[in-house]
Amino acid sequence: MTKGILVCAETADGKITATTRELLHAGRDLADAAGSALAALVTGKNPQEAAAEAITLGADTVYTVDAPSFVESTPDYYASLLVMTCRKTEPAVVIFGQTDLGRDVAPLLAARSGGVACMDCVRVAIDTQTRALLQTRPVYGGNAMAVWSSGEEVLRVVALRPRSYAAAEPDATRQGEIVALDPPDSDESPRMELLETRKEDIQGVKIEDARIVVSGGGGIGGPDGFKLLEELARVAGGASGAVAATRVPCDEGWVSHGIEVGQTGTIITPDLYIAVGISGAVQHMVGCADSKVIVAINRDPDAHIFQEADFGIVGDYRQAVPALTGAIKSIKGA
Ligand SMILES: Cc1cc2nc3c(=O)[nH]c(=O)nc-3n(C[C@H](O)[C@H](O)[C@H](O)COP(=O)(O)OP(=O)(O)OC[C@H]3O[C@@H](n4cnc5c(N)ncnc54)[C@H](O)[C@@H]3O)c2cc1C
Repeated sequence: MTKGILVCAETADGKITATTRELLHAGRDLADAAGSALAALVTGKNPQEAAAEAITLGADTVYTVDAPSFVESTPDYYASLLVMTCRKTEPAVVIFGQTDLGRDVAPLLAARSGGVACMDCVRVAIDTQTRALLQTRPVYGGNAMAVWSSGEEVLRVVALRPRSYAAAEPDATRQGEIVALDPPDSDESPRMELLETRKEDIQGVKIEDARIVVSGGGGIGGPDGFKLLEELARVAGGASGAVAATRVPCDEGWVSHGIEVGQTGTIITPDLYIAVGISGAVQHMVGCADSKVIVAINRDPDAHIFQEADFGIVGDYRQAVPALTGAIKSIKGA
């Protein structure tokens, strides 16, 4: 048996998140290919229920730490928690989601453990000859794929984009072990302090988990236009439809920063991305270029977005969006 794979699990309302289910799928595949075991780390208050769920989703062992959740603590504290867990469990590979937690903590864990981190990956595999970890990530704004190889002499830390893998299916008959670990000592001289937590009022599915995303840009012109996009997302996507935005509407305060897509926002890979009043700047496209299908609605026929889109509608969104919503309604009603 070689050293195992550890998934850093995230929970919401005491349940394993959709992204973590995908990580458990990736981790299970990796562990099976490497002939090793899959472990998961579940943290937060009363982690037992989520730990049992992680076993049904493929983990052989689940380590639990009764600790404040990530949003109630600091990246420094969580890095200490991960370093402590890795010292005790000695994994060969740690898998995070490319989420707020993964972005903050994966590089810190790699740096503090003398390991390597590869962020924003869409695939992980083991070279069974050399035992190297092969990590595939999009580069040049999604126009090429690079494969990074890291040898087993160091801890490999990888962050996987949401929706890169299908979610692991639960199997209630799976057996596993739950091991409680003590939380790390709180940092005596913290470099960061949590001053305030504000809850974003985002309704429905998160943009990274949505199958159909209707995204608005500067061309929407104000918060009222987003109501048309909300209706299109609801009619086209139902419970798996969401509204997103470029940086412009977020900076203007028309919508929350939590739904920004792109280099400084979230990277998403929905089945359908409808870009409305969006020019197609590279900093935005890196966040959505791997969507399965992109539809652009823009009144400028020369807008760059049409070079990125699979389908395009040239026109004012105020006419195009209600027309599209109406057409989908009549098809679904038929
Ligand atoms: C370091 C850095 C990081 C960045 N990170 C991000 C990021 O993460 N995400 C991001 O989005 N941006 C990011 N940006 C900003 C990015 O460069 C662009 O400025 C931004 O994406 C442009 O947004 P937009 O296309 O919505 O707006 P605009 O460029 O203003 O384009 C508006 C579009 O709407 C069309 N339009 C106008 N009116 C209508 C109408 N009535 N009907 C239909 N179409 C209409 C116009 O033809 C135009 O194409 C970043 C920039 C920098 C420098």
